[in-house]
Amino acid sequence: MDLNQSLFDRAQELIPGGVNSPVRAFRSVGGAPRFIERAKGPYMWDVEGKAFIDYVLSWGPMILGHNNPEVVDAVKAAVDNGLSFGAATEGEVRIAQEIVKLVPSIEEVRLVSSGTEAGMSAIRLARGYTGRNKIIKFEGCYHGHSDSLLVKAGSGLLTFGNPSSAGVPASVTEHTLVLEYNNPQQLEDAFRQWGDDIACVIVEAFAGNMNLVRGTQEFIDTMRRLCTEHGALLIVDEVMTGFRVALGGAQSLFNVTPDITMLGKVIGGGMPVAAFGGRRDIMEKVAPCGPVYQAGTLSGNPVAVASGLATLRLIQTPGFYEKLGSQTEKLIAGLTAAAREAGIENFCGDSVGGMFGIYCLPEQPKGFADVMKADQALFNSFFHGMLERGVYFAPSTFEAGFVSITHDDAVIEKTIEAARETFADIAK
Ligand code: PLP
Repeated sequence: MDLNQSLFDRAQELIPGGVNSPVRAFRSVGGAPRFIERAKGPYMWDVEGKAFIDYVLSWGPMILGHNNPEVVDAVKAAVDNGLSFGAATEGEVRIAQEIVKLVPSIEEVRLVSSGTEAGMSAIRLARGYTGRNKIIKFEGCYHGHSDSLLVKAGSGLLTFGNPSSAGVPASVTEHTLVLEYNNPQQLEDAFRQWGDDIACVIVEAFAGNMNLVRGTQEFIDTMRRLCTEHGALLIVDEVMTGFRVALGGAQSLFNVTPDITMLGKVIGGGMPVAAFGGRRDIMEKVAPCGPVYQAGTLSGNPVAVASGLATLRLIQTPGFYEKLGSQTEKLIAGLTAAAREAGIENFCGDSVGGMFGIYCLPEQPKGFADVMKADQALFNSFFHGMLERGVYFAPSTFEAGFVSITHDDAVIEKTIEAARETFADIAK
């Protein structure tokens, strides 16, 4: 038996489903997930020594490619000084300064260790600030797995067909209104009915957890206006889009000012750093300044912050986002052309900065209902054909993909060549 399979067999006896996060399992595409040993630049190697061009990139953080030498050096230097102090450090001040500089809607920021914590804390803050209970989220958007947000929440949950999760009391989610993504009229209706009770609207401005779905300008503008008119807060979840679609995040592309922003993934450069931040009068409600409690033993961990700081410095290299965006566009154009060459019409793609969607659909989806129509069988064949040829895409048709600055022309061309072969096989 091969090493990967025997590891997976052992893992399944010890860890639920053999994985420490359900999106890593290959449940929807079938087969054993690859056990990864090491990674460098755009490549990962599994325990059997097989190389893969990686378009998952730890689900977004590795924007500089794997094991960037400057990030690794910064981490090693931090390790030499101690792993964790549970006390304030200079690095936390420096990373807060960078975040406030790069995301102008953020005046104060609190570091946490995961996007889930950022979402959970942002919601508590919005409720504490407004004194209201109801929150609005959108179908297919994922904001972490805290109880009140685990309703119609995309990817891992879509893949397993669960609209929400067992173990969440209805009394917790009864305050969560779920509306259709990209439907401004529903927002108008909801605010007309419940406007005075709504604490916040939380949104992924480019949704990345039902594959990539672009929010429309009208949708985003409508929620900003309604929140302002009704005294509710707008929370833009930039855990995935922050420093990924543009240096200023999705909010800079939509020219929208959130009251609270959630960050994660890229700000840790592969280490556990996430954050929520926003207007000063709102953030000052957070403990110890205000009555909204929030805490974390490892929040602002010095090793993780060193990784984040080095990453934030390198993404400010002039031309970084132009290059990242154009490599991602080349990938999508090449994959789509490869499908057409093989006579496959049910395939297209889209990208924003270094984030992309590939869809087994004739045209780009505008919301959750469109995404659900994807040709699952075609995606599974594509996924396995590419994996065999050394290209690692997310093992689900509901996930967005990511490109790093190390995905140069040769890497993209190799990917497209693998796609030509894969689509030709599928079309046989
Ligand atoms: N918000 C968004 C938009 C995400 O994509 C994710 C994770 O994929 C989260 C929140 C949760 O982040 P974490 O997995 O770090 O808890």
